[in-house]
Amino acid sequence: MTARRVEVTSDAFYGCVTHALSTEMEEVMGLLVGDVDNDHVVRISVILPLRRMDKRKDRVEPSPEQLCAAAVQAEAWAMGSSGRQHRVIGWYHSHPHITSMPSHVDCGTQFTIQRMDKDFIGIIISCFHTKTPSEPYHRVAMTDAVDRVQVTCFQAAETRHGHVSCHVPLDITPTAAPSQLLADQLVQIPNLLFKEEQSSLEASLAQTGDKDVIALLQNISVYTQALCSIMDIFAIPMLHSLQSCLSEYERRKVSLRKEKQDLEKRLKVLRRTKTITEV
Ligand SMILES: [Zn+2]
Repeated sequence: MTARRVEVTSDAFYGCVTHALSTEMEEVMGLLVGDVDNDHVVRISVILPLRRMDKRKDRVEPSPEQLCAAAVQAEAWAMGSSGRQHRVIGWYHSHPHITSMPSHVDCGTQFTIQRMDKDFIGIIISCFHTKTPSEPYHRVAMTDAVDRVQVTCFQAAETRHGHVSCHVPLDITPTAAPSQLLADQLVQIPNLLFKEEQSSLEASLAQTGDKDVIALLQNISVYTQALCSIMDIFAIPMLHSLQSCLSEYERRKVSLRKEKQDLEKRLKVLRRTKTITEV
């Protein structure tokens, strides 16, 4: 284990938490893109929500194909943005209704990927979970309400008793305003959830065929209900949130335009005064 500290931008963190809160029943996961400095401080600025291959509890892990595809995407971002050497530097997943403590499976997955990249880190977001007083201090409590969001950042080590987790300090670095990148990342999440439901429907239809009309109706009803649920609890609130961001940008644009006009006026006056003085 080598990562000393992790810094995640508030945009990327918001994206992870939003993804985690998208479903109460199953774990979700994604990859973290960023860079590492010479002191092994990992800086995360982009998230890549991933499609789950297996929705069962404790089965989320990125496949090699997903890691390769994400590496290509991360490279494209690096070229299009700051020019810094961005790469896939971690993964995140949710723990609905349980603590953010990494499971043995999580530690095994983490250790396997860490063998290829020693700075690779894991983030676990516990959500829809009720507070218990005995939990360790290093898990960050976002709210102290009955249901709260907790975050654990970790790497894994190998011991005689198997793989264990090692805590890595996590800092959230503020971004001045929600960015275009955040909007792009948020829009990916409902698209991903829709695709997952579509795959589930296709798998069910492949099993039952189209001769059993009752099964067909049942499958289509479940699919329709899932789509309505995504729209209701995720897509519509997100649309409202993005609309309020847009209104805020419009307001700021008007204010900046006015400030620019005032500054131009002052500049004209200053130039005129300078000309008179010179004459
Ligand atoms: Zn887990």
